[in-house]
Amino acid sequence: MKKALIIGAGIAGIATAIRLAVKGFEVAVFEANAYPGGKLAEVVQNGFRFDTGPSLFTMPQYVDELFKLAGEKPDASFTYQKLDLVCKYFYPDGTELNASTNLENFADEIATKTKDQPESIKKYLKNSRRIYQITNHVFLEKSLHRLKTYLSWQTLKSVLRFPQIDAFRSMHRANNAFFTDPKMVQYADRFATYNGSNPYKAPATLNVIPHLEQHFGAYFPDGGIYQITLSLVALAERLGVKFHYQSPVEQVVIEKSKVKGVWIKRSGERMQNKERDGEFITADVVISNMDVYFTYKKLLADHPKLLPKRILKQERSSSALIFYWGIKKQFPQLDLHNIFFSADYQAEFEHIWQKKDITDDPTIYLNISSKYKPDDAPNGCENWFTMINVPSNQDQDWDKLIASARQNIIQKLSKALGEDIAKLITCESILDPRSIESKTSSYQGSLYGTSSNSQFAAFLRHSNKSSKVKNLYFCGGSVHPGGGIPLALLSAKIVSDWISIK
Ligand code: FAD
Repeated sequence: MKKALIIGAGIAGIATAIRLAVKGFEVAVFEANAYPGGKLAEVVQNGFRFDTGPSLFTMPQYVDELFKLAGEKPDASFTYQKLDLVCKYFYPDGTELNASTNLENFADEIATKTKDQPESIKKYLKNSRRIYQITNHVFLEKSLHRLKTYLSWQTLKSVLRFPQIDAFRSMHRANNAFFTDPKMVQYADRFATYNGSNPYKAPATLNVIPHLEQHFGAYFPDGGIYQITLSLVALAERLGVKFHYQSPVEQVVIEKSKVKGVWIKRSGERMQNKERDGEFITADVVISNMDVYFTYKKLLADHPKLLPKRILKQERSSSALIFYWGIKKQFPQLDLHNIFFSADYQAEFEHIWQKKDITDDPTIYLNISSKYKPDDAPNGCENWFTMINVPSNQDQDWDKLIASARQNIIQKLSKALGEDIAKLITCESILDPRSIESKTSSYQGSLYGTSSNSQFAAFLRHSNKSSKVKNLYFCGGSVHPGGGIPLALLSAKIVSDWISIK
């Protein structure tokens, strides 16, 4: 039986394991942490449960597909509810905008609360749908590094329609043309942050994102987001996949330009002596779910010539600062997803991208899973996942930045909600770019691999297959087609389409 070895049990690593097991491979996953999921994990503190990373779940069909592929009924192991209200937006002037997935309701809300008319959002979403139809098959579901992709009629049709994907103006410029009210421009610009980019730089092609949320919908998995990880690991195990935790891969071994296997660290702080501290595991194919930058820098350090030079220069996506707060009160005016916008969005992005620090007035994303899963918080309480976008880790003085951001966030939320939030915090833990980097081996703590701040970003993202080493592949948010749960799952699909059992 052919052996496939996967480095990392992030969501893409788990999905790749499932797909290769279905193909007939003997699959082993080696994970550095004591738990699966990478960014998609959970933390429990003082009776509060928090999903640590992703909180917005779109395109659940990509998870369902994995169960179907294995011959199982998805809803026997993994269920979710569609949200009617996708997000509540709070503006500094007191306006509250409820984004419903029902387009007519949302359009009415916009007409009532902003200077825009229902037609603006309809035109905007029609454009979003068109971009999706043109780009989906070529940019998201296929490899851009395979000749086969370019030889299909579907690709040719998409290529002929490329002028319509709006690649040559920024998202912000496009959104300014779609909407009259700055509040709606800010609403639309925020979608750039869904893949850690800057709306003032990123091409308007990213206006495809609202179609995914508005048309396909946003969901809440029963049991919380971490259920995605747990149910897929259980599925993989039913298919015979073996997961090895606390087993960091230290080196990928290559002979005559072909993968031979990997060295795993079994004991000790550092693997000083391979034979004593490690174990060599052979494999026919190796798929790295580790960030591609660190895969080259650490696991392939003996082969510096393999490192594609552009990887060193590529701009990384933004990172995040998250306060997981146990709050001893409930707020009926809040929902599952809440956004408290900043007064000056452009200045906020200048801080993230040019000054590489944090504005005093950041846009705050507040996720409260206990709204849908009450046992995530004790009675009368709520679990607040309080997040702001911040630059990637470039050795800033994070302790100082975090202390002042914490104060500014508390002040802003206290003002908006009419309560002294500081007094309601019963427990706290923090995730910042440094800990994202160390806990998930993501270069600079970026959430979504490389940024999409240029029209060429999609083409420059690393391929899912090594062009120089036979049987070495890559999956996950740092490679094609990009970050976020849906795209990480698609990377697993692309990579396993490439790997043959023969
Ligand atoms: P990762 O999650 O990066 O995991 C990689 C795994 O590999 C880790 O478990 C790591 O320990 C392991 N590993 C690395 N190196 C080694 C090694 N040498 N040996 C063994 N194991 C190794 N996406 C959304 O869709 N919606 C959201 O709302 C959303 N919000 C986010 C909020 C935050 C705070 C964060 C951090 C991310 C968010 N994302 C969101 C992005 C999403 O979480 C990621 O794009 C996705 O989970 C990446 O999955 P991955 O497969 O690339 O692996």
